[in-house]
Amino acid sequence: MSRSAAIDRAARYLDSGGLLADLRRRVAVRTVSSEPQSGPALHDYLTREIAPQLARLGCVVRIVDNPVEGAAPFLLAHRHEDDALPTVLTYGHGDVVVTDEAEWGAGLRPWQVVVRGDRWYGRGTADNKGQHTINLAALEQVLAAREGRLGFNLKVLLDMAEEIGSPGLAEICAGLGDELSADVLIASDGMRVAAGRPTIFLGSRGEVDFTLRVHLRDEPYHSGNWGGLLRNPATVLATAVAALVDGRGRVLPAGLRPPALPDSLRRALAGICVDGGPGSPEIDMDWGGPELTPVERVFGWNTLEVLALGAGTPEAPTSAIPGRAVAHCQLRFVVGTDWSNVENVLREHLDGHGLTMVDVDVGQGVAATRVDPDNAWVRWTEASLRETTGAEPAILPNLGGTLPNAAFADTLGIPTIWVPHSYPGCAQHAPDEHLLTPLAHEALQIMAGVFWDLGDLGAHGNAWRERLERQWGSKDMRDDRTACTSAVGCVSPGRPHSRPPAQAPSAS
Ligand SMILES: [Zn+2]
Repeated sequence: MSRSAAIDRAARYLDSGGLLADLRRRVAVRTVSSEPQSGPALHDYLTREIAPQLARLGCVVRIVDNPVEGAAPFLLAHRHEDDALPTVLTYGHGDVVVTDEAEWGAGLRPWQVVVRGDRWYGRGTADNKGQHTINLAALEQVLAAREGRLGFNLKVLLDMAEEIGSPGLAEICAGLGDELSADVLIASDGMRVAAGRPTIFLGSRGEVDFTLRVHLRDEPYHSGNWGGLLRNPATVLATAVAALVDGRGRVLPAGLRPPALPDSLRRALAGICVDGGPGSPEIDMDWGGPELTPVERVFGWNTLEVLALGAGTPEAPTSAIPGRAVAHCQLRFVVGTDWSNVENVLREHLDGHGLTMVDVDVGQGVAATRVDPDNAWVRWTEASLRETTGAEPAILPNLGGTLPNAAFADTLGIPTIWVPHSYPGCAQHAPDEHLLTPLAHEALQIMAGVFWDLGDLGAHGNAWRERLERQWGSKDMRDDRTACTSAVGCVSPGRPHSRPPAQAPSAS
């Protein structure tokens, strides 16, 4: 059978109702990892849904207890064809985010797939049940098309606690390094830059949350009697926030800013635009690093956000100096930021501004990861997507959001290639989450193409590595970036994104 026949088989899985039937069952398993009573459902999803499919794929499957007490188990599987062949690790997560049924649109339900036009609604259709179901189905179709061979070795890791930070994932990857070792990770999660633009991302920004607290007194005091005599915690807190991020959204402490954008990153981002689809807010061009393009700000830079702040009772203010004030903040950061030192940086910066009375409480963070866009595996995947779709894929060195990718990129030490099958308007984590059928159709074709091409690479036997490097590793970097074809929410539709005109420096 040929590449195109394998791709057609994968597409037929959707056309014939196979994908919808599988998703209906999987969405109905209420796998909310943040709810303590979900334990049996999390386990059932692995044993009743994923394990039988992997057995059909000829995998040896085992359920592994989570090394973190009380956390959901993992599923590990492998299918070994030959030591000489490339080995791919794929990953997915079967857990979902909690949702309030009452907030879903009329007639829509989180635990039941409802079809409306080209949208399939249901919790997990986009994040991540739909995406790993597509990938496992593409593997099955390629296996059938190659008459019982893949032409590569396959390893699979299913996580049931991704939405609560993947407890135990780093430990599993460190402790079972041999069992999980691979030449490359190819997996799907997150979203494309736009529904119609096939996308590859190579890592993710990291995230660290922190809280600023100013607790000066247990009681509020009358502002007429005490105003001017007592330090106001709300004013102190506002000053602290302003010392960290300026009025144009720029991160101020040098220790919280990333190194300058590498040229390879700048080139990779030049043909991409930020397109949230219909209903997206308008981008503020003078915010967050006005000297950067919008796409550079999301994928190549750090952002410090105030998520919530409070003092007194905003709904019913009284004439009193509040006793305390609090701000919950978040730093999203790219590779090269010394994030493990965030607490010291914040402390020193605030002390330097005379704000010693502001307490800093730093939560657990997630590391940032990124693969060089010129890596041979990236170029190889890019070519595969281009051949299947005829479109120029968007390559994002890292996602703007956060994934547990450090377990693969750092702990296992393999290149990480993510091919997302969702889009910015998919409402993941929100009511009315959905999968777009045209996108799912193309995704099945894309993944069948990728897995077919991996088998072709394996046809070179022991020489596959050399072949990969020779053909894709030494390629001259292209500077002929494709024009952005998406008009919605795009700052410069129809042409490659150039840098915006320089802004006058801020007066402050
Ligand atoms: Zn999610």
